[in-house]
Amino acid sequence: MSTPAQSGLYIVATPIGNLGDLSRRAEETLGLADIILVEDTRVTGKLLNHIGKKAKMMVYNDHKSAADRAFILDAIRCKIVALVSDAGTPLISDPGYKLVRDAQAAGLYVTTIPGPSAAIAALTLSGLPSDRFLFEGFLPSKTKARSEALVALKDLNASLIFYENGSRLGAMLADAHTVLGERKAAVVREITKRFEESVTGSLSELAQRYDAEKPKGEIVVIIGPPGAPEAASEQDIEAALREALDRLPASKAAGEVARTFNTDRKALYELANRWKAEK
Ligand code: SAM
Repeated sequence: MSTPAQSGLYIVATPIGNLGDLSRRAEETLGLADIILVEDTRVTGKLLNHIGKKAKMMVYNDHKSAADRAFILDAIRCKIVALVSDAGTPLISDPGYKLVRDAQAAGLYVTTIPGPSAAIAALTLSGLPSDRFLFEGFLPSKTKARSEALVALKDLNASLIFYENGSRLGAMLADAHTVLGERKAAVVREITKRFEESVTGSLSELAQRYDAEKPKGEIVVIIGPPGAPEAASEQDIEAALREALDRLPASKAAGEVARTFNTDRKALYELANRWKAEK
């Protein structure tokens, strides 16, 4: 589909800084929409102005009452309704989840016009492992609650993605260092804008730097997975692979051990097959 023709809910991603990132399908959909659900009419108004379109806007957030949502569902039944957020992909630390859930439950047509999201853009710029990641969004602002949230993520073998703001950045990095220990991390700022930067370092280095400096603009923090255990020797890795092979087929065992020790999955898979052939 290149142009929306049928009534339904169209989830439309918009740029996170550079208006050139608005896709052609997003532009077409916004142009054809009968109603655009927005977070802020001024922000989306500027985007519509940029593409030379006018449309009826209605403010939407997930705290709207069920009655308000029912009214919107009625509109979705017979009109083209687009959902946007101020920037990036709706539903990602932005409103929309409850509306999509209810529209699908009501059997209405729901589709997405994918595009930019700061989380994914930052991951690609961080220089940190991108094969497994967890998006956490904003952490709580108080140290106690923030530390508790970080404890729950401590043992995940994945890069962690957080949204943050400049005034809390130093404290957040310090808590992350205390709870997660030393790890590689990146502070990715102002993606697609004039002052875009990706500052990488260890958590302690970054915590120190941003304790003194409160950076301006929009920020994503990426924290790398826990490193391979320092003492992991070839024997440790082989023992782990033998143990995993008791539970799992070779490909899965190799994958699990490769992730744990941050090592080459293919080589482990070949080793597992060699052992099997030698039996
Ligand atoms: N739904 C959006 C998305 O898909 O990217 C995110 C909305 S969330 C309310 C806004 C947060 O995203 C900001 O506080 C910041 O952490 C991050 N963000 C948005 N635009 C950014 C950019 N250009 N550079 C870095 N971070 C950005």
